[in-house]
Amino acid sequence: MNKATVNNELLPCPFCGREVTIKKRCLKDWRGEVTMRYYRIACSCGAGTHKEYKTEKAVVNVWNRRARHG
Ligand SMILES: [Zn+2]
Repeated sequence: MNKATVNNELLPCPFCGREVTIKKRCLKDWRGEVTMRYYRIACSCGAGTHKEYKTEKAVVNVWNRRARHG
């Protein structure tokens, strides 16, 4: 069992070993209601996901896969 079955566990940065943060960006319509949310991961060393994802879970999955494999 080597699958990422742990939910929402965010691995530290593979480059500097520090904790990373999930950045959330919201798009709002003209009434100010949130229509879309985007998530990406950023580390203070400059590493992070290049893309934005629509769910927190998706971005955590992508990040963890990268963090494990370097
Ligand atoms: Zn880092």
